[in-house]
Amino acid sequence: MTSINRIKMDKITPPGITTTAANQAQNALGDRPTSTTNNPNTRPDETQLTLQWFGNKNVKVVEAPVPAITEPADVICRVTGTTVCGSDLHLYHKEIMQLQAGDILGHEWMGIVDEVGSDVKNVKKGDRVVASFQIACGTCKFCKEGLTSMCDTTNSSSVQEKLYGKPFAGLFGYSHFAGGFAGGQAEYVRCPFGDTNLLKIPDSVPDEKALFLSDIIPTSYHATVCADVEKGNSVAIWGAGPIGLLAAKWSKLAGARRVIVIDKVKERLALARDTIGCDVINFDEETDVVKAIYKLEPDGVDCGIDAAAFRYTKGLLHGVQRAVGLETDSAEIVNEALRAVRKFGTIALVADYAAMTNQFLIGALMEKGITLRGTGQAPVQKYWKDLLKKVESGEFDPTIILSHRFKIDEFRELYEAFDKKEMGIMKTFVETRFSGPPAPGTPALSSLRDGDVKPSAVV
Ligand SMILES: [Zn+2]
Ligand SMILES: [Zn+2]
Repeated sequence: MTSINRIKMDKITPPGITTTAANQAQNALGDRPTSTTNNPNTRPDETQLTLQWFGNKNVKVVEAPVPAITEPADVICRVTGTTVCGSDLHLYHKEIMQLQAGDILGHEWMGIVDEVGSDVKNVKKGDRVVASFQIACGTCKFCKEGLTSMCDTTNSSSVQEKLYGKPFAGLFGYSHFAGGFAGGQAEYVRCPFGDTNLLKIPDSVPDEKALFLSDIIPTSYHATVCADVEKGNSVAIWGAGPIGLLAAKWSKLAGARRVIVIDKVKERLALARDTIGCDVINFDEETDVVKAIYKLEPDGVDCGIDAAAFRYTKGLLHGVQRAVGLETDSAEIVNEALRAVRKFGTIALVADYAAMTNQFLIGALMEKGITLRGTGQAPVQKYWKDLLKKVESGEFDPTIILSHRFKIDEFRELYEAFDKKEMGIMKTFVETRFSGPPAPGTPALSSLRDGDVKPSAVV
């Protein structure tokens, strides 16, 4: 590479995209002021198991101190259920800025209240609770409007503020780009503003269902709201991970006429087709996805939901551009959606996007009159009481995507297997020493170390 090219590249590459550079930028900028600390006190002489990040594809289960009540609105919980999320793989691959060695990951967790601060009113010791993945203060302008994922006072990342104009709320276990809070892939979690960020769970709802109110139930529901899914509509969903599949289920419950799910993992497509009743497109077999959609829906689909990930790229062009730092995110899925959605249709992006993309099909967006909506991180608290009722009544069963149960001790192996999308692992329930036995009808405990999880044979 010539030096001229290098200079051009430096100009094009957005600043602060790598974790190292972002950490340096944060140090130079200083933290944004926040309404709660991300550095709690600890209990003397108590330890717990935690999953910590140490580098690209390097996570380990490590013993760590147990957090203590540090501020009057804090609640300390014993974790009875946690899991790994598709978006944790961005952390695993070091694709999210401002990660630091020793960060405790995990933003989906539930448990039992162990101790409450003096200001806490809504929960007490012994209550079963689920936490929202976002940490909201409950009192700022955005929280008051019910937009808890956009809480203005809990994220210390000045890098995110510089990059986006304003940052989203602090999140559990999602790097210092999301506030640097310890996460729920652990045996104990400190929940700041416990009155706002914890929801009590009735005895009739088992942990294996309640856990998913932390993120994937509200997030998938929010995606269908943002995509304007209504009775009689046709919907195309890119990505048959947990969010894509549950969004398909919500679309069906909303009365969508046809739901088309696009992926290449056969087990996932089989679930979409056989359990949820969707049409499916395997893009390994039907390489022209847009053509395949028009074959099913000659006018194009009314609604598109991008539930794949920003890492997702099929073409060489975007692969190369990402590899050399010319873009962080690929526009391939968005462009497919822009072509496949009907004129004056709606597209919702619920998949995570980080920063910049090239070759965005802006012409189709304008000329077809398409509404392209970023969903933002879902405001969990806005929905979770209503959605809990639908789970409790049996109208919505999140365990259709629950495939395995593991012990916290095997988190490192679980990240590895989940990353490779091997062995039919879709969504897991990870138990701790505080968990009860599996609820009836949910997966029995498996062990990756003992090799008792085998590749599934779905075709
Ligand atoms: Zn998640
Ligand atoms: Zn707030």
